[in-house]
Amino acid sequence: SYRVAAARSATLEQRISDDPSTFRVLTGDRPTGTLHLGHYFGTLANRVRLQRTGMDVLLVIADYQVITDRDSVGDLRGNVLGIVADYLAAGIDPAQATIFTHSAVPALNQLLLPFLSLVTDAELRRNPTVKAEADAATGRALSGLLLTYPVHQAADILFARANLVPVGRDQLPHLEATRTIARRFNDRYAGGQEIFPVPDALLTQAPLLLGTDGTKMSKSRGNAIELRASADDTARLLKRAKTDTDRTITYDPVARPEVANLLLIAALCTGQDPEHLAATIGTGGASQLKATVTEAVNEHLRPLRRRRTELAGDSSHLLAVLREGNARANALADVTLDRVRTLMAMTY
Ligand code: ATP
Ligand code: MG
Repeated sequence: SYRVAAARSATLEQRISDDPSTFRVLTGDRPTGTLHLGHYFGTLANRVRLQRTGMDVLLVIADYQVITDRDSVGDLRGNVLGIVADYLAAGIDPAQATIFTHSAVPALNQLLLPFLSLVTDAELRRNPTVKAEADAATGRALSGLLLTYPVHQAADILFARANLVPVGRDQLPHLEATRTIARRFNDRYAGGQEIFPVPDALLTQAPLLLGTDGTKMSKSRGNAIELRASADDTARLLKRAKTDTDRTITYDPVARPEVANLLLIAALCTGQDPEHLAATIGTGGASQLKATVTEAVNEHLRPLRRRRTELAGDSSHLLAVLREGNARANALADVTLDRVRTLMAMTY
């Protein structure tokens, strides 16, 4: 559950500061659009921080997962390169991190076959995030790929033998599935030996940032503030963000989730605490709150946005980064798959 994962994240932070060299990070994003504030505060800023401790960081751009809940891949190439630009603009160092698309790594995808044998139909169907995503794709029947994508994510994580996965709260059920798959594989084929480490989720202070409509900020829901948005667009989007009618601004995530969410965004951008910001705004109401958040976001993202504009104009550089990452990921995946096939007696 969320409480357990949040407590676990605090313990992990201690272990990370004790010895970062015992961790390898894998996480990623669906190329269904460009990255937004939810990504940034939920996982991207954390990835940059972890990379700066010297950790090995792998970032998957999950291109096959675009078609879990839609019939078309959309502007896939543009979205993939846009996400590479977001990563680099946020401070991911391509010389150190491995950025790859999972479609370019066949051995990773082959792990899906043994992994699917380790989960039951009932386990797949009770995953709450899959249920929520299936409900969000209104009018669509649940595709086999949507039902099984948490297993595909297990392959994304385990092919690299990663043990640390900085993600948002919606990913916790999938991380649980990955942990189960790692344990079952180790038990069934390796006599309990740790062929696959059992990875941990790492949450931030903003594990579930809300969008302008008060539901999870998502690329697919039209409620996001993109990292690349202009200062004016940011102001326009925040102006119509859902709040409430109480003119006295207080930080109360349970009773006033939308107001608290805006305060949290401003707090994360400025390094102040949200209660203090609420007190500063006082009886200024939603308009004063939104002005404060807009200023904080635009100020905090200014350098990132400047870098991103430069990067976006150099698609050959972005492609070169991706090709290099794909080559590294393939080398790693080939080793893992060889090991798996050997353990499964599939050597001829
Ligand atoms: P889509 O709507 O296409 O699924 P998304 O906005 O949900 O897009 P993903 O690519 O599915 O983004 O998620 C990538 C990572 O970002 C995951 O680790 C996810 O938990 C995290 N993340 C996404 N949205 C949020 C959010 N609103 N708050 C915190 N973390 C988030
Ligand atoms: Mg998502």
